[in-house]
Amino acid sequence: MNALDPRTPPRSALVVDDDDFVRGAIAQILKRLGVAEVRTADNGLQARDSLENEGPTELIVCDLMMPDSDGIELMGQVQRLCPQGRVVLVSSSGPKLLRSARELAEHQGIEVLGVLGKPVRQAELAALLGQAPAARSVPAPSAAPAPRPPPPWDESQLSAALQAGEFLIDVQPQLCLHTRRVVGVEALVRWHSPLFGQLPPDRFLPELERAGLMEQLTDLVLRQAIDCCAAWLRQGLDLRVAVNISPGCLGDRRLPSRIHDLADAAGIDVSRVVVEVTENGLLQESSTPLEVLTRLRLHGMEVSMDDYGTGYSSLERLQRIAFSELKIDRRFVSAAVADAEARGIVESSLSLAQRLGLHTVAEGVETSGDIALMAELGCDSVQGYCVSRPMAPALLPAWMAAQGLPSCLLREPPCPVAHQCVLARGLGPEF
Ligand code: C2E
Ligand code: MG
Ligand code: MG
Repeated sequence: MNALDPRTPPRSALVVDDDDFVRGAIAQILKRLGVAEVRTADNGLQARDSLENEGPTELIVCDLMMPDSDGIELMGQVQRLCPQGRVVLVSSSGPKLLRSARELAEHQGIEVLGVLGKPVRQAELAALLGQAPAARSVPAPSAAPAPRPPPPWDESQLSAALQAGEFLIDVQPQLCLHTRRVVGVEALVRWHSPLFGQLPPDRFLPELERAGLMEQLTDLVLRQAIDCCAAWLRQGLDLRVAVNISPGCLGDRRLPSRIHDLADAAGIDVSRVVVEVTENGLLQESSTPLEVLTRLRLHGMEVSMDDYGTGYSSLERLQRIAFSELKIDRRFVSAAVADAEARGIVESSLSLAQRLGLHTVAEGVETSGDIALMAELGCDSVQGYCVSRPMAPALLPAWMAAQGLPSCLLREPPCPVAHQCVLARGLGPEF
């Protein structure tokens, strides 16, 4: 936990706990830490009333277990009643429950500063407040809660940006752990806006989706990715290219032939194209996504289940859909070295994939320790900052040459100089 930061404390806080003593103690601590206005509530219902009638606060310190209306229920209201408020969760429950509660709150868009066990200690609470960036401004108590600011771009700007070719892919290499070769890249789109600078996908994909422009974006990304793949092949780099396909686009029966046409035009085999879909993209009622994915496989493309472990995948779905690859989500991969539960999830995902004959990719390897563990657990390939951050496609050949990394397709024999290559890159002898 970080030391207390001398930044301004929140100006107002609401302490929600059914235990008079605990509530009073936390309120005292907050006052000692310089919070000017400290309100209290016995349970979630009172807290809701307080936020509704007296206005939002900058901080909510909330017990999880309370009679009548518990902390989880209150979290469901915080986004609406106190959109700028940050939350500290308090409970005597075990760390597992606290972690689930935190994830649930964060999933609802709430900024959780941390979770504390009981009794709450001043130093711990102070450290959590110190971790927070400077307090955000809160509207006057009587004012309606301010909605989160919308992005400054609208549909027509997005459409113009698509026409102007401002959406460009970066590529992130994937390294085969058996051969120590770069086997391919994932294409990741960025918006290079002359007005707003370079933006990551989570800043514009939801708006593109809402505006019905995802198909256009997907076409652009597919075209760029396939053209890069063809250009690398001409330079002697034998790589595959993975493209993320949003759930909406899986409803388009023309997707397989669109990819086929692009690959034909570029002069590459479609087997070099990997289509990445997330588990939740397959939850739709319609059978079209299933049909589209099956036809992609029939046409010879690879189909990868992305972010495995974060959605609602069922074994039945994994078995029913002709996936060829499983990408384990980085949340588990980067935690696996230190966290036994995360490691357990990685291990069981790998063994499931192996039983189903799927190629496996561990996403989000950030240290050589992460890579070594994935190799030890039998994962086929890795992708992550430790190998390389995403880069402009034009830089890839020089990056590979600088690292001394050869490329290959998965079916090629092991690289005889693999160990040398990796040592030369400084990934360490354990890799
Ligand atoms: P994804 O497909 O799971 O892509 C991996 C994300 O993890 C990328 O974020 C990548 O930069 C990041 N990443 C890779 N290695 C590491 C690591 O070691 N540590 C950390 N912290 N992060 C790492 P990015 O580029 O921001 O993309 C986010 C998501 O946006 C992607 O997740 C994908 O779902 C979506 N996306 C990106 N490009 C496209 C696209 O062209 N079309 C669609 N439909 N979605 C896209
Ligand atoms: Mg992906
Ligand atoms: Mg992923």
